[in-house]
Amino acid sequence: MINDARLPWHEAHWRQLQQRRAAGRLPHALLLTGPAGLGKGVFARRLAQGLLCATPDTEGNACGHCRACHLFQAGSHPDYLAIRPEEDHKIAENNSSKKKSKVIKIDQVRDFCVFLSYTSHYGGYKIVLVEPADRLHVNAANSLLKTLEEPPGDSLLLLVTAQAACLPATVRSRCQVISFNKPSHEVARPWLASQLSGSLEPMALLDVANGAPLAALAYADGERWRRRQSLMEDYEQVIAGQLDPIRAAENWIQGNLTENLRWLINWHTDLIRLKMNPGSTDFRNPDARSALRNWAIRQSPRRLFERLDAAIRMHTLCTTTQVNTQLLLEVFLSSASGKEKSNTF
Ligand SMILES: [Zn+2]
Repeated sequence: MINDARLPWHEAHWRQLQQRRAAGRLPHALLLTGPAGLGKGVFARRLAQGLLCATPDTEGNACGHCRACHLFQAGSHPDYLAIRPEEDHKIAENNSSKKKSKVIKIDQVRDFCVFLSYTSHYGGYKIVLVEPADRLHVNAANSLLKTLEEPPGDSLLLLVTAQAACLPATVRSRCQVISFNKPSHEVARPWLASQLSGSLEPMALLDVANGAPLAALAYADGERWRRRQSLMEDYEQVIAGQLDPIRAAENWIQGNLTENLRWLINWHTDLIRLKMNPGSTDFRNPDARSALRNWAIRQSPRRLFERLDAAIRMHTLCTTTQVNTQLLLEVFLSSASGKEKSNTF
């Protein structure tokens, strides 16, 4: 959890939007894009609260004390709606039901279009945040078009995504796009250092997080770091034929599967870098360099590309569709151990 929603690498975008707000030219739909871990959702919520606040400061930041701010912070402001896939709601409630949708459905979009069409309770903005917007089902995205073409007065739609290309061009073209880029180390490092306690080294975390400061901060959570280490050891043992892929798969599907699979993709990206250019300094897992080098030596470039491709496909399948994740992982890990000649998905 970050201590302050004001992230230094957001400031240029923030000032630009506040100038437009002051001039009465704030767009009705904003598409916040850029790599994961940069705080796009933090920015969107900061903007929403600032717009709903009764007494914002001169830079457009919410006061944090008025009635509107209290309602917003409690998640019950009547002029604000946050939309996400139903499954994410269940995860947030610590319930692992697999029957819930991974997409944002057309009914959810229809509901918030109606919400936007009503008069605001407090006479100000009506705001909807959709995150992650790439989870909008294609029909749901299409049902947005009318609202995007004829936005109700003082309505604001905030679409947040790390994968803007997954949204229909018809939706993208009707939004004002704000692209977030990774900050330089000069900006990210002091911010990260200010958030960390203990002896963790900000630069090592930033390298593993590929330069995304919020992802780096999340990795500073000791439990996640240990989990990454444990999965890496499992995978190494599977490759060496010392661990049954079925048992390893049982471990891999525990916890945050999406994150576990992102680790896997990151390792394979580094394996290819090591294979192609052993001296490369552009490395996502500098702490695991020697282990990865040992893996890379044992496999051909072609094999490594196949494994990366399979890991990416598995990540896509697991995050966008209802699939038997245990089975997918068993297939993937079995082929890692050399028990099968190729991946079958
Ligand atoms: Zn306020």
